[in-house]
This record gives sequence, structure tokens and C-alpha cells, in this order.
Amino acid sequence: MSQQWIPNDDFLRHTLNHPAGLSPCEFRLDNGVTVQVWDTGVICFEPAAAGDKDIVLSCGVHGNETAPIEICAELVQDVLRQKLAPKQRTLVLIGNPAAINAGKREVEENLNRLFSGHHSKGAGLINDERKRALALEQYVTRFYQQAPKGTRKRYLYDLHTAIRGSRFEKFAVYPFLHGKPWQKNQLEFLQACGVSTVLLMQTAASTFSYYASNTHGADAFTIELGKVRPFGQNDMNRFSEVRTSLRALVADAALKTQDFDEANFHLYEVYRSIHKQTQDFKLHFADDVENFTTYPVGTLLATDGDTEYRVEQEGEALIFPNAKVAVGQRAMLMVIPRSVKGQLA
Ligand SMILES: [Zn+2]
Repeated sequence: MSQQWIPNDDFLRHTLNHPAGLSPCEFRLDNGVTVQVWDTGVICFEPAAAGDKDIVLSCGVHGNETAPIEICAELVQDVLRQKLAPKQRTLVLIGNPAAINAGKREVEENLNRLFSGHHSKGAGLINDERKRALALEQYVTRFYQQAPKGTRKRYLYDLHTAIRGSRFEKFAVYPFLHGKPWQKNQLEFLQACGVSTVLLMQTAASTFSYYASNTHGADAFTIELGKVRPFGQNDMNRFSEVRTSLRALVADAALKTQDFDEANFHLYEVYRSIHKQTQDFKLHFADDVENFTTYPVGTLLATDGDTEYRVEQEGEALIFPNAKVAVGQRAMLMVIPRSVKGQLA
């Protein structure tokens, strides 16, 4: 029999109909999975036997990044309809329902710059995105802390799509690990998701994935799945590997992973971050240039008043260029290839 708390088993629709909040509820499916709604966009699945993993899947931290929202909505609906039986504790988060309803990346402020306490810095909890960042931190904390005792592994995969095209369609951002080794099995999992370009960060960040990694010791990633498109216009076949792999992870089914071979990856580290210093900041390449584009050494990339930025290194590639950011904000990230040989666990 179908449950009565979430109309049509459509948690995304239910969330978007109640963007400001949902009353908590709990019920059990016939297959023994306990379902708890904690808030709008926050749903937790607990199998009768809790497995050894605590998995957080998040989407919609940026409201117009529709493909990940559709992927998560489908997974939740299939759990509620018992087409997919979780064998691991799983928390699914729809990050910013108000921004999804508005069809915008954000309502007032970039939610993915507000974690690890940044929501309460400066002016404090002055807008809904700041309040949501705090709430999401509290839900993730509760989820990990309520896990059964014993040796368990924590994961958080924060799914996004990029504003612009990318030379490598899908890529992941591996948060700064403060000197700890990168996880071979996670690179293999990313590859199974169709993601073989990975940016290895070397500094702390205000992102959701860094928060989960640094605060909770989770294997956590920001995963960019391709270019932003409106709802219903995503070709879901382009996401079949990530859909299949996430569902296998949740269901504790066999994953189609290959042994890690660096030759099959594009691994990068940040070489420099270019910040906008004046209103005169200008990019010297086409607006629609793809992420990970490279130019010959010496090529003029940007000017900012009297300052010129040119390509300095062979293989230096640009990502996330945006001349429209506020003065003082990052306008572009320059990355260079790197190896992880001997540095994996
Ligand atoms: Zn995003």
C-alpha cells in the first residue's frame, strides 16, 4: 500500500509546495525501511539492518541546477515505491527549495559559500540561504551522530551542474584534506559515476563538501555533472552512470568499478586564484569558453586596471571564470595537472 504522508510519493513536488518548511513525520515501508521527513527537502531512509555506511546525497544547493535534482527525486520516489531498497542509511537533501521555485541559482546569496559556519559570520543569519546552510549542517550532524555504533564510513556527494560547458563534461572537486591521503576507492567510485576529472583542492573552503569532509570526516565531493539546463530538458541518458552508481551504493549492490589507473584520469590542482580587484576587471576570452580550456603560455587572460594576467604554466587551465562577481571575490581559478602517485590510501 502506498504511504499517505508524501502525495504521489513525489518528495520533490511536496518540498517545492512547502519551500519554507515541512512538519516532521515518520513511517515504515512494507520492506522494513523507516522513512523520516525532517524538513522541506530533507528525507532520511533507515533500513532495518543499518549496513556500515552513512550516505548523504545532496542536490539543488544551486536552485537552477536541475539534473541532480531530477536524479535525487527519482531515487527518493523509487525508494518510496519500493523499487529501490536501501541497505545503507541514506539522507537525501534538496538544498535550496526557494531558489528551485524561483528557477535561480540563489535567491539572495550563494548557498555553497556559507558552510563551516560562514552562515553566521559578518552580518549573521540575515537571509534564508544563511538559515538553510545552518539547518543543513545540523541535519548532516544529526544524521552522522545517530548512526549505530561501530566502524562506519561516512559519505557526502553534493551534486551540481556547471553554468558553462566543460572540456571534460563531468568533474569533481575533492575538498582539501589537510595532508591526509586521497582515497583510491573514491576515485574509483567517481570513475564509475562517469567522472574522471578531479580537482584536488589545497585550501579550506566554505562549500558543503568541504564541511562534510573537514567537520565529519566524510569522503565528500562536489560533483559537477554537465551544463545547466531547465527542468525536463536534461537528457537523463547522459547521467546513467551516476544514477546507476548512486543507486548501487544506497542498495549495497555491486558497483562496476575499475582499479585506479592515473592514466584514465585528468587530475588537477589549483595553481592560482584570480580575484577581482577593481570594477575594470575584464576577461580576454569569449564568454562561452569551456571550463578546463588551456591556452599557450603568455596568452592574456584578464586585465584588472593596470594588472595583466597571462598564462604562466604549460597546461594551465581555467575554470569557473566570472567577471560579474563582486569586487574582492574570485573571478577565475587557474589549475594545473598533477599526479597523486604514492599519495593514495
Ligand atoms: Zn552548483
